[in-house]
Amino acid sequence: MKAEIIRKYGHEIVDWVADYLEGLEKFPVLPPVQPGEILAKLSLSPPQVSEGMERILEDFRSLIVPGMTHWQHPSFFAYFPANNSEPSVLAEFLTAAIGAQCMVWQTSPAATELEERVMDWLRQMLGLPEGFAGVIQDTASTSTLCALLCARERATAFGVNRFGLSGGSPGPLTVYASEEAHSSVEKGVKIAGLGKENLVLIPTGPDFAMLPGELEKAISRDLDRGAHACCVVATVGTTSSTAMDPLRPIGEICKRLGAWFHVDGAMAGTAAILPEMRNILDGIEHADSFVFNPHKWMFTNFDCSAYFVRDPKTLTSTFEILPEYLKTGVDLQVKNFRDWGVPLGRRFRALKLWFVIRQFGVEGIREKLRGHLELARDFASWVKDDPRFELMAPVTINLVCFRYNPTEKGLSEMELEKANKELLNRINNSGRCFLSHTKLKGRFSLRMCIGQTNTTREHVKKAWQMITNWI
Ligand SMILES: *Cc1c(COP(=O)(O)O)cnc(C)c1O
Repeated sequence: MKAEIIRKYGHEIVDWVADYLEGLEKFPVLPPVQPGEILAKLSLSPPQVSEGMERILEDFRSLIVPGMTHWQHPSFFAYFPANNSEPSVLAEFLTAAIGAQCMVWQTSPAATELEERVMDWLRQMLGLPEGFAGVIQDTASTSTLCALLCARERATAFGVNRFGLSGGSPGPLTVYASEEAHSSVEKGVKIAGLGKENLVLIPTGPDFAMLPGELEKAISRDLDRGAHACCVVATVGTTSSTAMDPLRPIGEICKRLGAWFHVDGAMAGTAAILPEMRNILDGIEHADSFVFNPHKWMFTNFDCSAYFVRDPKTLTSTFEILPEYLKTGVDLQVKNFRDWGVPLGRRFRALKLWFVIRQFGVEGIREKLRGHLELARDFASWVKDDPRFELMAPVTINLVCFRYNPTEKGLSEMELEKANKELLNRINNSGRCFLSHTKLKGRFSLRMCIGQTNTTREHVKKAWQMITNWI
């Protein structure tokens, strides 16, 4: 009976998935729903007896799908992409079916060894130095937390692990990141017990990238007052504008002062797969750790964050535990990824990466990325050539920050913010495409990020037409 049910509904679901991915454009990108609207339609208490797949699937189609924001829609240009692809979706189905826990080698030998292999493929694809070892984490936030914890332990000779927060450090441990760094740095600093007050945000230049001279000044100031420079987080592709912190000079400062150097390339790191974009990682050999998310811009559905470290021993010494019930006879010969991060239980995420890389091929991935970069350059040129609009930041990869600002009207910052907010609302409420916004040095900007798997020139053109028609 069970196998029959899986076959019947499995086939039905596969058909639905194929139609969904192909016909996504029928859906509004943002659903026209009000807060609480869906909640009100959901049964207040759980069913006491089986309702049967028929009804569950019917409710999925009628209640859930219409209330989803369709991230895979080719006119999704908001935030950053979280793109997927067919090989990734199919692999995820298999992962769920196998349902393995991948915490130690013995609990899933193939999963452990495949993870080791595909992470080395990624290392080669990005041109990371030999010797960097990788592990898959759930998110970049977790990866950055791991980096901060390792930095803390290296700075205190593993004293905090042993003695608690008072252990091992004569002065406060300070952390540095640019004022444009992602909020996950602050969150990690708080969780790691380093204290938000010890996170120093370094000014950025006109291109929104960290100024290494300012970093050096801030660190010397703190050292003079007895602090210990624990960690510097550089961002390759900031969230607001994909600014590129210059890794080489920042890395050299870290090296000189003994600070842990973590590089956050959550979305933009993917661009380094293109040989012509490798320069964004120039100086990466100084890094102690590096993260990028295949679940953002590499066609691998969430979650899949690739975390690389130069010295796995620091990572495993920070997280290692060895209770009797987890000891196995091969512990000395194998990788036990439970010691490479926070959780014990781990999903088999390597499988979807393996499917994606093999189905696309590295050249296939490059072709997609080049397409996105070209579309972003084109969009930027349309903005630049239209006197009613202005670019708000350099276009480094696939994100264009821009706004409506007709010079002849001489609008104030407040009026500009109001006009651009209205424009954004009108576009997003139409359901035909979805953009987001940010503030750059206090100025309201629209963000157009091009990175969906099936976005074409037509989608980008349509978005621009909509924007220019509606001002
Ligand atoms: C998206 C993003 C993050 C957070 O990624 P998660 O995987 O959602 O935790 C961190 N840093 C940067 C630069 C990002 O763009």
